[in-house]
Amino acid sequence: MLEFTCHTKISAATEQITGPKYIYNLTPFEKLPEFINDTKKFHDILGIITKINEPEWIPFSNQPNPSLRRDIRLTYGCGQEIKMAIWGSKATQFNLPEDPNMEDRLAIVLFTGCLVKYYQENFYVSGYSACHWYINPDIPEAASLLNRTHGQSYKIKRSGIPIAEQSQPEPPPVADFLTLHEMEAIDPYEFPATGCRCTVTIVRLVETQNWWYPACNLCKKSCLPEGSSYRCPKCNILDMYTYNNVQRTAASPAEKISSSRSSKSPKK
Ligand SMILES: [Zn+2]
Repeated sequence: MLEFTCHTKISAATEQITGPKYIYNLTPFEKLPEFINDTKKFHDILGIITKINEPEWIPFSNQPNPSLRRDIRLTYGCGQEIKMAIWGSKATQFNLPEDPNMEDRLAIVLFTGCLVKYYQENFYVSGYSACHWYINPDIPEAASLLNRTHGQSYKIKRSGIPIAEQSQPEPPPVADFLTLHEMEAIDPYEFPATGCRCTVTIVRLVETQNWWYPACNLCKKSCLPEGSSYRCPKCNILDMYTYNNVQRTAASPAEKISSSRSSKSPKK
């Protein structure tokens, strides 16, 4: 991995450079949880493919268009499996070579440039634009992984509908802009299901009351509403938040209330 800083100088190479075929630094499966939500370091992993899903469209509350994601399951030959999610154009690019002999051959894959994420109390490995892969790479670690399988076969399960046969989901309807006056006039039972948008100017803060926001239990960043739930856009986890007090004065110490997932405290 390369890190560019403001001190990095880049000059164009004048000679032909022959780079190595594989550039990687493997993170063992058991070490991956240590890097959950660490966005500073990309990880390279090696495993045997046990399952490939077709790409599917995933909607997000904080972006207008859905994203493509392809789920893959990998094992390291010791029974433990991990999920790998490949996003965007990489999801459609990933494919095993059309080899009739591939059916009963192990598909060992080296993924480079991955991040470790956390979702629904499990960690998984995520590959975005920096992600690259090599199927059955000619590296010593792949040979030793193959040795450790002792000839056991791993038939790759496939599931999902090919992307060409799927229709891209409609973007969620955009809520109408209403004024406070118009909102007040709506019967609460007849409020639009899509919600509404409203631009307001804060003219005064109620001095005796604090503000609260749903803060992610992992990264402490604020979560975004998704239906009746809240999702952390950074950790991509649903309903794992605590209401944190926005500290407005030095005299009022930060408080926290309710840490259960179903906490629905009044929001201001
Ligand atoms: Zn978070």
